[in-house]
Amino acid sequence: MKLESFWLATAPCFDAGATGDLPARADVVVIGGGFTGLSAALSLARKGVDVVLLEASRIHGEASGRNGGHCSPGTAQSLPDLIDRYGEQTAKQHYQVYTDAVDYVEQLIEREQIDCSFVRHGKLKLASKASHMAGIARNYEALRKYLRQDVELLSASDVRREIASDAFHGGMLDRRGAQMHMGRFGTGLATAAARHGARIFENAAVTKLTNLGGDRHRVVTAKGEIEAGRVLLATGCSNHGPFGWWQRRIVPVGSFVIVTEPIGPLLDRALPNRRNYVTSLNFGNYFRTSDDDRLVWGGRAQFARSNPASDRKSGGILKDSLDRLLPDLRDVRIDYCWGGLVEATADRLPSAGKHDGLYYSVAYSGHGTQMSTYMGDVMADIVTGTARANPWARQEWKALPGYAGREWFLPLVGAYFRFKDAVS
Ligand SMILES: Cc1cc2nc3c(=O)[nH]c(=O)nc-3n(C[C@H](O)[C@H](O)[C@H](O)COP(=O)(O)OP(=O)(O)OC[C@H]3O[C@@H](n4cnc5c(N)ncnc54)[C@H](O)[C@@H]3O)c2cc1C
Repeated sequence: MKLESFWLATAPCFDAGATGDLPARADVVVIGGGFTGLSAALSLARKGVDVVLLEASRIHGEASGRNGGHCSPGTAQSLPDLIDRYGEQTAKQHYQVYTDAVDYVEQLIEREQIDCSFVRHGKLKLASKASHMAGIARNYEALRKYLRQDVELLSASDVRREIASDAFHGGMLDRRGAQMHMGRFGTGLATAAARHGARIFENAAVTKLTNLGGDRHRVVTAKGEIEAGRVLLATGCSNHGPFGWWQRRIVPVGSFVIVTEPIGPLLDRALPNRRNYVTSLNFGNYFRTSDDDRLVWGGRAQFARSNPASDRKSGGILKDSLDRLLPDLRDVRIDYCWGGLVEATADRLPSAGKHDGLYYSVAYSGHGTQMSTYMGDVMADIVTGTARANPWARQEWKALPGYAGREWFLPLVGAYFRFKDAVS
């Protein structure tokens, strides 16, 4: 078993990065080479803006290259929960922009001819307990009432035709859910940005920012200094660099993934429609198939940071859940196992805007493959002064009380969610 991301291990390497010294200045400096930063760099370069992207290690080496591979509509919480909290109008906008974001990813892939096996096989939310069907049905009804007719409520026997498992009590199918090879998408995005003129520097960790007046900044990196007309932070849940304000508002939570050997005929029987599947428990699973006939199986597994020992332990926990939920696949070999950090906020919604002369878009709370790509394009407009609505602007974004970048409370949160799963 390889302790590395399947997406990164099986994608072509990015070979169009900038080499040599940093230029003395650029109109816009983007910090972070995940999907937010790469998409912003692409859109800025397409507008003819002089843009430099600075990535601490390799492009899409963090969450963007280490995720579960789903690109689905829908926020981290249900539409009724959003309505209860924010009212009908705002909730509808939050939910709708996720649908728009998946459409945007599809259009971008088409426009830039990125070879990443994008397909719309749909997303199936699975009820892990009979009591969970009420919440799924409530979401289904709200979606049909306020937003879309193209979702379906499935009974336990409908679900049995979708997945070779007796573990589920029904579900909701959203046919607009999409999936793609995240590594080939990331490399394709970066290559397109470079082709349009963005200069992308890897191994260029930003260590210091000095405001030179207005939006102008001196940016100090491991590779030298650059003066930026404007700076866009696309650093995910980075815990290094001069980003304390953001680090006090985003909690990195570990999430883990295993990938099986190629098992085509078994998959045809176990998951004939090859959708994105998500179970309804807090300590649940998300899974899909790959275009080379593997099962990609993810989950929270444990509240721990990713490192080789914890990835291996989480891989064992995930394999147990796979054996339990898809018993026909019990004997398959696991080829890949890795972990990554999901960027959680207190309200599980993203945040984008401007703070202290720095533009930013971060924290998609585990629902970010589509939203990060979309927000890169939104921020490219906002940074350059083009009128564009920012769906994730906040009046105020409060720091998490008692939190200064060390997640001491995560075991307590984990225990709380396990308790909720047990009694639900
Ligand atoms: C295990 C896992 C499973 C997930 N599954 C899904 C899924 O199935 N579907 C979904 O929609 N979302 C999923 N997500 C979430 C999704 O991957 C992220 O929301 C999204 O990729 C975030 O993109 P980003 O560009 O904001 O951040 P990142 O991809 O984290 O990129 C930030 C970049 O900034 C760089 N950086 C940080 N600090 C500095 C610095 N000081 N100087 C220079 N560069 C710096 C980092 O090296 C990194 O490359 C998952 C996440 C994880 C971890």
